[in-house]
Amino acid sequence: MEPLLNADLHCHSVVSDGTLTPEALASRAKANGVQLWALTDHDEIGGQARAMAAAKAEGMKYLTGVEISITFAGKTVHIVGLGFDHTNEALVQGLRNTRGGRAERAKEMSDGLAKVGIHGAFEGALKYAGNHELISRTHFARFLVETGVCKDTSEVFRKYLTDNKPGFVPHRWASLENAVKWITQAGGVAVIAHPARYGFTANEEYALFTEFKNHGGRAVEVITGSHSSADALRYADTALEFELAASRGSDFHSPDESHTDLGTLPWLPGQLTPVWELLSNQIQ
Ligand code: AMP
Ligand code: MN
Ligand code: MN
Ligand code: MN
Repeated sequence: MEPLLNADLHCHSVVSDGTLTPEALASRAKANGVQLWALTDHDEIGGQARAMAAAKAEGMKYLTGVEISITFAGKTVHIVGLGFDHTNEALVQGLRNTRGGRAERAKEMSDGLAKVGIHGAFEGALKYAGNHELISRTHFARFLVETGVCKDTSEVFRKYLTDNKPGFVPHRWASLENAVKWITQAGGVAVIAHPARYGFTANEEYALFTEFKNHGGRAVEVITGSHSSADALRYADTALEFELAASRGSDFHSPDESHTDLGTLPWLPGQLTPVWELLSNQIQ
């Protein structure tokens, strides 16, 4: 497979915090020229069979996908998994445990918001959660926009849902080691998602990439909807330095909220190994 492939290996459906069904995402991806697609819902692979069938119906190649939340150096980091067996028992069970704490965390977020006069946020957010096990900050953001507290979701995150803000509750997710292990033992490749987003110091970032590799991680997102062109150049260098393959994905959530649509990203830089070269046997 050539590097100039329109691969989009990161997006979300109603199974986590996206607003479109797996089928609607598949047709949108196809219409935008995507040739290889993966649906990567947060901590949940319940949409994989539908996404795979929809990709097939659209005549598009498909890789199974997931985006696992982990805690590293006190921050939440996302590890994307691609090309695994979505019926693997250890993976299914590990993700179930990771999801377990979300409802409790959501209630604490709601209590925090009530203290600044925003009431009923738990019930309000729950209405937006297609999957109640996957209630996330995104669903709270939609509720706060709906009720006119903020004008858009990025304002909600800035004022209410990030570190030290009233609705922010940190969560202990899976460990880096377990996330990489679940993915690789199910036959897939683990990928560090949108590395520019974490705000790590140089030392913390070096530790993340080193430990990720030691546990068997093999790729990093270089081209993503959350990277500027400077970020992409920087992480292209990191990929070469750590001998990691490179991935490409929009992180599309919703036509109304996402600035990068499916399949509309810059190409992967030519000197990098595309992650799909490691996954030729897993492509459906
Ligand atoms: P959670 O898993 O509940 O911590 O929610 C994380 C989700 O919130 C991410 O997957 C994004 O979809 C969304 N998110 C995080 N930061 C922002 C932001 N600054 N603006 C909009 N959405 C964000
Ligand atoms: Mn999300
Ligand atoms: Mn993410
Ligand atoms: Mn994502």
